[in-house]
Amino acid sequence: MQSESVPSYQMFVGGAWTQSHSGRNYPVFNPATGRVLAHAPKGDHEDARASVDAAKKAFEDPAWRTMDPSKRGRVLLKIAQTLRERLSDFAKLETTNNGKPLGQAKGDIAMSARHFEYFAGLADKIQGSTIPVPGNRFDFTIKEPLGVTVHIVPWNYPLVMAARSLAPALAAGNTAVAKPASFTPLTLLKFAELCKESGLPDGVLNVITGGGEELGGALAGHKDVRLVAVTGSVETGMKIMEMASASLAKTVLELGGKNPTIVFADADIERAAQGVMNGIFTNAGQMCWAGSRLLVQNEVKDRIMEKLVSGAEGMRLGNGMEADTAMGPLVAESHRKKVSDNVESGVQEGARVATGGKVPDEEELRSGYYYSPTILDDVSHDMKVAMEEIFGPVLTVTPFSDEKDALMKANYVDYGLWAGVWTRDLRKAHTMARELEAGIVCVNEEPLTFPQTPFGGFKKSGNSSEQGMDAMSSYVRVKNVSVNLD
Ligand code: NAD
Repeated sequence: MQSESVPSYQMFVGGAWTQSHSGRNYPVFNPATGRVLAHAPKGDHEDARASVDAAKKAFEDPAWRTMDPSKRGRVLLKIAQTLRERLSDFAKLETTNNGKPLGQAKGDIAMSARHFEYFAGLADKIQGSTIPVPGNRFDFTIKEPLGVTVHIVPWNYPLVMAARSLAPALAAGNTAVAKPASFTPLTLLKFAELCKESGLPDGVLNVITGGGEELGGALAGHKDVRLVAVTGSVETGMKIMEMASASLAKTVLELGGKNPTIVFADADIERAAQGVMNGIFTNAGQMCWAGSRLLVQNEVKDRIMEKLVSGAEGMRLGNGMEADTAMGPLVAESHRKKVSDNVESGVQEGARVATGGKVPDEEELRSGYYYSPTILDDVSHDMKVAMEEIFGPVLTVTPFSDEKDALMKANYVDYGLWAGVWTRDLRKAHTMARELEAGIVCVNEEPLTFPQTPFGGFKKSGNSSEQGMDAMSSYVRVKNVSVNLD
């Protein structure tokens, strides 16, 4: 890696830094200033092939695949420890590349370390079973690693989303090629080097950078790839599933969301309002599981709206490196345009801007990609703005009359990732949790997850689950062995 005022990064393949095959680079921006932060290699299909070859070679070498699994776990633990030691540097890099406030970036890096700690502990607990069968036979199963796994990562949580799928894949003895989103490649590149320093053998983790269509396609369709884990939009997930079908590679798809937060009249409105705010304005709303649709019972709508509007208007927008910044910029100018277009189209459909809905005009925010925290009122559940993911700091507000009405409206969309319920009534809470079509339900809680709790979507939000013990089943294959003892 060169060190200049604007550094040029390289890709990490086979345990070494390498230039892209084409020799081309592209600029990576700081969204808070609009300035070029670094250059990264613009990889092509040749780079994809080389990275899969390196991962395949590392898988065929028994050093990693057949390593004592406790030892493999200790390597993952060492990676987590080293990451914690460098938490501050990684967090600063994440903030300057993604735009999120530094406190949130620190949380991301700690969560990345937690994913490695959790799966480090599971590395020597990937057990098969013995199965009673007729006759004098002994039948048992073995859970084996798959081989080369590919990890396609979004820009909203650049390191955490990579760590979330890499940790179980590596714990099981697989090797990996990871591709960060082109907006935000920097922390994952540095992480690859950190893994090597922490004892990960060469070629076990490769990181290549460049455009999604070209690189992602070449990786997902590669004949030697056994699994593709994608965190991204529904459209990308569908394309990747189709490409992976050429070699029948497994897919782990973690996709978009348009998530309801349901607030009943009996809820603690003060806490619910804070939960709704955090659920939509954290990370500038660029969250798959953002609580982007508020469904509120008629009786308390005015009360909660008052709190939400004053809360949104009180948020300080700014560079994520400044201590009092509550919300940073969006990741890119092109993304801000998409968010703004979505708001305009919502207004054309009949939504009313209760606050925000614009690019802020303060002088100090002009060069970054800022967008005001936005609340759209008078939104009916079947409007486009209430059904399609915006992926920005935009909350829609829709009233409901009773439980049945709330459920119908909550389940109305094609997505099913997260849902929130605010109520003091235990019966209502459990009934809603049972009936909501969402992979994650939080009761009296803003969106919250832990490495040990499953994270996955229903319907178009995905086809499996990351995190927790269940995630491991995606990253292994099951072999049955039957031994005739006669
Ligand atoms: P995106 O789909 O544009 O990109 C995701 C990744 O896929 C990037 O690395 C990109 O380069 C790559 N990619 C894009 N097109 C591709 C193609 N044709 N073939 C192969 N790879 C391709 O998504 P994004 O804008 O980076 O992230 C936002 C999306 O991610 C939102 O929809 C959000 O909800 C979703 N997301 C989901 C989760 C989850 O856990 N369910 C978490 C975070 C983000």
